[in-house]
Amino acid sequence: MSKLLPLYKKYPITLQRGEGVYLYDTAGEEYLDFSSGIAVCALGYNHPQFNAALKAQVDKILHTSNLYANEQSERAASNLARACGLKKIFFTNSGTESTETAMKIARKYALNKGIKGGHFIAFEHSFHGRTLGALSLTANYQKPFKPLMAGVKFAKFNDFESVERLVSEKTCAVVLESVQGEGGVKPAKPEFYRALRRLCDERDILLIADEIQCGMGRTGKFFAYEHSEVLPDVITAAKALGCGVPVGAVAVSDRVAENSLLAGEHGSTYGGNPLACAAVNAVFEIYAQEGILARVSEVGAYFERCLDDLVREFEFCEARSGLALMQGLRLSPQIPARAVIEKCQKKHLLLLSCGDNELRFLPPLIITKAHVDVLGRTLREVLGSFA
Ligand SMILES: *Cc1c(COP(=O)(O)O)cnc(C)c1O
Repeated sequence: MSKLLPLYKKYPITLQRGEGVYLYDTAGEEYLDFSSGIAVCALGYNHPQFNAALKAQVDKILHTSNLYANEQSERAASNLARACGLKKIFFTNSGTESTETAMKIARKYALNKGIKGGHFIAFEHSFHGRTLGALSLTANYQKPFKPLMAGVKFAKFNDFESVERLVSEKTCAVVLESVQGEGGVKPAKPEFYRALRRLCDERDILLIADEIQCGMGRTGKFFAYEHSEVLPDVITAAKALGCGVPVGAVAVSDRVAENSLLAGEHGSTYGGNPLACAAVNAVFEIYAQEGILARVSEVGAYFERCLDDLVREFEFCEARSGLALMQGLRLSPQIPARAVIEKCQKKHLLLLSCGDNELRFLPPLIITKAHVDVLGRTLREVLGSFA
């Protein structure tokens, strides 16, 4: 019997190693991976240059604390600032810790304008993390943990009027996933995003973009808000930022940096440690060398056509939604997503679910059209067996 607390409904596969876009279990069976450890392993598995960068750092220094400067975190901050257009970076160890940091930044920014205990506007079907602050902004999973943080209201995603109705003098931030993930894959509409940007500008409210799942190139842009031509005030990142090494980050504009947290008001023992930041730097280097963003756009368009074909073919495939290599396929209630996923596993294809009976596809960003073809064939067979 496993000594792990059984908080996950685990599948009956023990994964042991990976190579490119393939995973291998303890019996040596090979799986095509369309899940990337939940949007983490963007460069696939056992990438030689990535591994070499980590090994080199292991032999130099693993950890220093944030009381001393280190070259890796300075360089990682420059890399991330260049990629997102916001100038100041704080490193964390996970997505939820990035959300917590963004919330404290928003509270402090509001306090500097005389607003104590600023309120947040989040969205239905949102996911921002599991710790109590982030959970307060997360639409699901709250019930056993109430009372959570006061002053959080949930608007309807892609419905600007529902936001206008909730905004008040006490609102300190609007927080959204640029593409919703866990609650069902749904991109923010550009006109909606731009309307939020205008509202936040008019009222001096922070616009916080959660790019933890949709960021780092998954949608064909470094960050998914770029599709809407807006620049948020605060960005949260994690997941693919370290491609398997646990690391998160918060990026803020100069204006926010100068008007929010002061030295001593926030911190993290591990946050941005040299090993994590060596991973971040290797990720940025490899993305550039391998032209990852252009590849994602090209393969992503091909993948969208593949899924659209399935929606046309199978009546119980209700709709596809997503951008490039972040896609959801909603199934009608009589075909449970988990049953489809389990059948795909038997055919050596790994998928995820999300939302209300939706298949979710988050492949490594290095997949090719040939891998998409394999997915299309396998999924057609599996869906056909339910028809
Ligand atoms: C995964 C995720 C988080 C939480 O990240 P953890 O590293 O699991 O804490 C937050 N927001 C979004 C959009 C996510 O997908």
